Amino acid sequence: MTTARALTVRQPYADAIVYGPKRIENRPRPTKYRGLLLIHAGLVTYRGLLPPANPDWPDERGAIIGTAQLVGCHRATEGCCLEWGFRDSWHWELADVLALAAPLSVRGALGLWTPSEDILRAIRQQRCPMRDESRSDSRPDTARGLEP
Ligand SMILES: [Zn+2]
Repeated sequence: MTTARALTVRQPYADAIVYGPKRIENRPRPTKYRGLLLIHAGLVTYRGLLPPANPDWPDERGAIIGTAQLVGCHRATEGCCLEWGFRDSWHWELADVLALAAPLSVRGALGLWTPSEDILRAIRQQRCPMRDESRSDSRPDTARGLEP
């Protein structure tokens, strides 16, 4: 049984994770979950301070756009995780980010949510790495945790 979770992230933060350099996600609470994390782009735009969005980012809404590994979690300390980290947040640490070739339109939810087997199956069928090209040791078409 695959364990996986999904996280709905407001744009442009979702794009900043999947297509950009953002490797921490600010959350009000810590999490003990570690493993495959589907990055779901929410419908809502975040209108706070953040580094400028790249105009080339697709800005997909209401869809899973990529996968990551949730590898750690820490409470923000002064100046940590610049320039994406907020103070007074928990910083969820992301790694091994992969973009999906075709975003998968699904409804999101608050907090960590559990994707259906149908969603996982659809993602397995179109895994496509767009990041981490420098990693020669990784199997290029595999996202850990997606294996049936
Ligand atoms: Zn931090």
